[in-house]
Amino acid sequence: MTKKLRENIFERDNYTCQWCGKNGIDENMLLPAHIRTACLCGDDRESNLITLCRYCYNHVPNKEIMRKFETTENKRVFNELYQQRVAGYGDYVNYIKSVFSSNGLTGTRPQIDRFVKNYLPAEDDLNGFKAELEKNPKSARDIMTKCTIRKITYTEYINQTEPS
Ligand SMILES: [Zn+2]
Repeated sequence: MTKKLRENIFERDNYTCQWCGKNGIDENMLLPAHIRTACLCGDDRESNLITLCRYCYNHVPNKEIMRKFETTENKRVFNELYQQRVAGYGDYVNYIKSVFSSNGLTGTRPQIDRFVKNYLPAEDDLNGFKAELEKNPKSARDIMTKCTIRKITYTEYINQTEPS
């Protein structure tokens, strides 16, 4: 987020925490907060940003902020983006899940989420992983075990980069 954008938000909100109403706060103690967070597809548009004091920023749950401040229009736009992302991610998860189970590994949703988040963070990794499995279906267990136990990504595994 640019300095200019931060200042625009603070100025629009009159340098006042929009949650607790505290004003006259030193600018260093104010933070621009996302009304809808990035993990729910919220972005840096001004209508998705709000001024909070440091205390509220650290203590008020995101969902409370979102419930109180999200505009109907942003809700519609972000929900649509989120649905698209979920649909894509659902395919991804189903695929990994099938690989886990066909290799006799447990693949609960939290475990799969963790595997994807930690070991297949890039789309290239997933494509490489898929290609590898098509060539040699038996390698899935090996890849998953190595990635998970050594905590390396699929890319590192393929490049044979060992963690130091
Ligand atoms: Zn506050």
